[in-house]
Amino acid sequence: MNGLLCPRCGKKTDSLCDSVCGDCFLKQFTLATLPQVLHITTCSRCGATLEHGRWVDGKKPEDTAIEAAERELMIHDKAEGISLGVNVEKISPYIYRIRFHITATACGLPVEQDLETEIRVERNACDTCSRIAAGYFEGIVQIRATGRHPTEEEKKECVSIICAGLDRLYAKGDKLAFLSNSMKRKEGTDLYIGSSGAARIACRAVVSDMGGSFSESPALFGMKDGKDVYRITFALRLPRYRKGDVLRLKGRTMQVRMPGKTTRGIDLITGDSILATPEETESSEYLGNERDAVKAVLVATEKDTVMVMDPETFRTVTVRKPYFLSGEAGIEVPVLKTAYGLILLP
Ligand SMILES: [Zn+2]
Ligand SMILES: [Zn+2]
Repeated sequence: MNGLLCPRCGKKTDSLCDSVCGDCFLKQFTLATLPQVLHITTCSRCGATLEHGRWVDGKKPEDTAIEAAERELMIHDKAEGISLGVNVEKISPYIYRIRFHITATACGLPVEQDLETEIRVERNACDTCSRIAAGYFEGIVQIRATGRHPTEEEKKECVSIICAGLDRLYAKGDKLAFLSNSMKRKEGTDLYIGSSGAARIACRAVVSDMGGSFSESPALFGMKDGKDVYRITFALRLPRYRKGDVLRLKGRTMQVRMPGKTTRGIDLITGDSILATPEETESSEYLGNERDAVKAVLVATEKDTVMVMDPETFRTVTVRKPYFLSGEAGIEVPVLKTAYGLILLP
């Protein structure tokens, strides 16, 4: 049993490791090695990390730092039953210190080692963010309106719907869902959007909120990752009429409640709902919007008629009693002055 002698130190030993006794073995044994300094690269804008030449999203820099250190940690092949304790310390936004505590056995002897490395974070722009910085876009949304120019308010509303849509898509991982640029034009606003898919979804959101429609015209403009890339122009047309507009439609006075392909509105005398086809809407006459209404005093109400005082001429005029009127004489009511006389609004 105890018949072995260490050839290096001459001591008696039960067994030899690498042809020497346990003490001699441990003197020359290094359990693990780790470079003192390592570098990782993250995107300074979106936080993506560069791994094996590819940008990876949504990882915490701490985790990337640990992975980089673990990748470079070389553990001796003779080690068995390895257990690794890891500790990360954030020294600054650009420096992490990683400490490993390793325990294992080698040649049946317990071995342990502490190692540490400094991870230096290099900041760069990932592919997507470089594109953003370069004003990259694949989609152009032209905000327009049918038969008129969109109002400032409408343009703002459109832009905010589109930006909210892009933010949602960006959060879901479409890194090209960003607004690259916007240009004011006499007839509307043009938005330049990183991804045409995101631009399409944003256009749908506008149409579902504000009515109208859009059409697409693609044009080949280059290659990306070996594939043809089309730049698509989305011609977004807001409806001719807006909510609150008052129209003369086939002898009736209609107020628009919901613009769209089919314009939904209400007959301002009877209170009946009206669905106007695009052709009917096209042939209707625009009288004004509820925002243009002025206040007039209600002088008297009869069964089918009411008398109101024209706020400009102070003359009393008789108009048909609208379905919604329930107030007594003396109150003020909103009216629209039109070529067809005063129109009372709800
Ligand atoms: Zn020895
Ligand atoms: Zn980035």
